[in-house]
Formats: sequence, C-alpha cells, structure tokens
Amino acid sequence: MKLLEYEAKRVFAEYGIPVPKGVVIRAPAEVAAHLPDLGDGVVLKAQVDVGGRGKAGGVLFADTKTAVETARDLFSREIKGVPVREILAEERLPIEHEYYVSIAVDRSSRQPVVLFADAGGVEIERMAEEDESAVRRVFVSPLLTDIPPFLMRELLGGAPKELAPVINSLYHVFQGKDAMLAEINPLVTTARGVYAADAKLIVDDNALARQGITVNRDLSEREREAEKHGFSYVELDGTIGVIGNGAGLTMSTLDLIEFYNGRAANFLDVGGGADQERVMHAVKLVASMPGVNVIVVNLLGGITRCDEVAKGIIAAGVAPTVIVRMAGTNEEEGRRLLAGCGYRMLESMDAAVKAAMEVAE
Ligand code: GDP
Ligand code: MN
Repeated sequence: MKLLEYEAKRVFAEYGIPVPKGVVIRAPAEVAAHLPDLGDGVVLKAQVDVGGRGKAGGVLFADTKTAVETARDLFSREIKGVPVREILAEERLPIEHEYYVSIAVDRSSRQPVVLFADAGGVEIERMAEEDESAVRRVFVSPLLTDIPPFLMRELLGGAPKELAPVINSLYHVFQGKDAMLAEINPLVTTARGVYAADAKLIVDDNALARQGITVNRDLSEREREAEKHGFSYVELDGTIGVIGNGAGLTMSTLDLIEFYNGRAANFLDVGGGADQERVMHAVKLVASMPGVNVIVVNLLGGITRCDEVAKGIIAAGVAPTVIVRMAGTNEEEGRRLLAGCGYRMLESMDAAVKAAMEVAE
C-alpha cells in the first residue's frame, strides 16, 4: 500500500529524518492559522496518489499574502484526473541542491537495493535513461541493520557526507515498515541541514496487519460484504458470475470463460473449508451484481464438503441460474441434493463454463 506524502513524512520523522514543518489542510482558509509557524514562503502540495505531481500542477508556491488564494486554486484542480481533497502546506526550504535516494526490494538478488543520484527532483527513470552512470546502486544484505560505511561511500561518490545518516535512517524505515519502496526525491541540502522535501513509502500489502495499518479505501457495499466473510473478491465488468475455492481454481475458471469469449462478472474465492453458510453468502453476493444472469460454481471438495456446498447453493435460492461443477468429498450426496432442487451439476469445468455461456447468451 502506498502512503500519501504526509503519512510517509510522519513515518520518516519518527525515524529521525528531518522533514519540513507542515500541516495537512482540507479547506483553503485552514492554512491561514498556520502561516506564522510556516514562515514567509509556503509550498502547497496536493496529497494525491499520482506520479509527476509537481509537473502536473500539484505543487504550488506561495507567500503569506497569497497562501489562502493559492490553496483555493489547488483545491479546485484535478491532478491527472484526481480531485484534491487534502493539501500538505509546508515551510518553503531554501534548497541548495536536490538529490535522489530510494531503497527497494531487488527481486532477482533478493535483497534491498539502494539507488542514489546527484540530480534529484526529476524522474529517476528519465535520469537513468539519459545517463546510466548518473545513478549509483548498492545492494545491502537484509541481515544488516545499517548500510555499511564502505557501501555508503560507494553510493554517495562525491556527494556530501552529511547525507549518509539520513540515508541510513531511510534504510531503518525500509526495514522497520516492511517497505517495498522508500524514496526521497528530492533529498535536499540547505544551509540549515539536510531534509526530505518529498517522501514516498510503499508498504508490502502482506505486512499491513503486522504494521497495524488498516486500509480505508472506499469499498462498495458488495466489497464490504465480501470482506466481512473473508472472501477474495474482485468485481469485473462481464456477465458470468464466478465462485471457486482456491485462487488457482477460481482463476482457471475465469481463464476458461475468457477462452470461450465470455466475460466474467467477478472473481470470488470462498477460501478453504467453506461451509453451507459461507457458500450461501457467496452465491447471494454474486447474484446481487447487476447484469449477472448465470453463476458458475467451481469447487473442489477436500476439507470443503460437496453436500455442504449444495445446501448453501440451495439455501441462497437466487434468481440467476447456478451451474455447478464439484468433485471430491461427498460429491454423490451433493449431486443428489442439487438434482432434487433442479440445479445442474456438470462433470467438468469445461462443460460447466460452456453451459454458462449458453445461458449468458
Ligand atoms: P513531485 O512532483 O510529486 O515529486 O513533488 P515534489 O514534492 O518532489 O516537489 C517537486 C519539486 O518542487 C521539487 O523537486 C523541488 O524542486 C520543488 N520543491 C518542493 N518543495 C520545495 C521547497 O520547500 N522549496 C523549494 N525551493 N522547492 C521545493
Ligand atoms: Mn518528488
């Protein structure tokens, strides 16, 4: 999960990285009260999750007199199509030089890689394209709790040594926050010292629970329902509902629908050991999607028992046609229950998807 700049800066500050004085505002007038704290020059930065925000008009400079008006202007903008709801108002730093530093997971060598460039502010991809040697990189063993001095020297080259402790603190952030990416662009020098003028932090989604981060993304009613039951659920734009157990089997079902030129309405993995109750909620959930007139239920009975699944499907009692393909534990009983209530249970996944295609058409 990618944090917003001000969230990332809060984390950086906790780890001792100097960040500019700043406040988050949600309306233009709010900036007025903070101007005495921020000083003469202010930077107003839209808190939107888009790359190249500055170039797209998301970073504006103002002074005490123009701050409220400039904030109003920024709130009225859309940055690459994203409306501005929050602005980080910061003191304007007297920047001497801008550097680039980032730490990411290098998949091929399976360790953190630290990138550094003497010219920050611009996009790193562009920098690397123009001059490969402008970007230096070192790999750090994940067992180390600090970047070793010899690697730091190699990384910095001729850049000021005072950057080193900040980069090392960024490494602590990277490790401590289970980050996929921790980036400062630009990392700046000023007469008063080094600052992180911008901040980017992407936390590994698999670590959100450990990090105590709750995602407050706007969920639709169905997505909330899915979350409540612990289903892996993604809405797509087709018409054939899909329910499976296990991500692989569910994904294969989607692929097969695609293969026959059909369009799946969703991905729903009920997870392992689904009982009657869970299956019923899953079927009801998918049936409630507009435009769905057929649902393929593709389940492999292991811990999940086919008779339980059958009871769940029957209990859901939904309007869209439910076509079932089940194999495994208590398969016979499941088939008997479904047949008794007029449901079709097919032998193979292929047959089930083909049957669903006919209904969808
Ligand atoms: P981004 O475009 O989303 O990466 O936004 P940044 O926060 O990196 O800001 C873009 C550019 O604005 C930086 O590279 C700086 O050149 C400039 N900038 C940002 N904050 C300050 C500041 O406090 N003082 C000065 N002089 N320039 C700033
Ligand atoms: Mn930046």
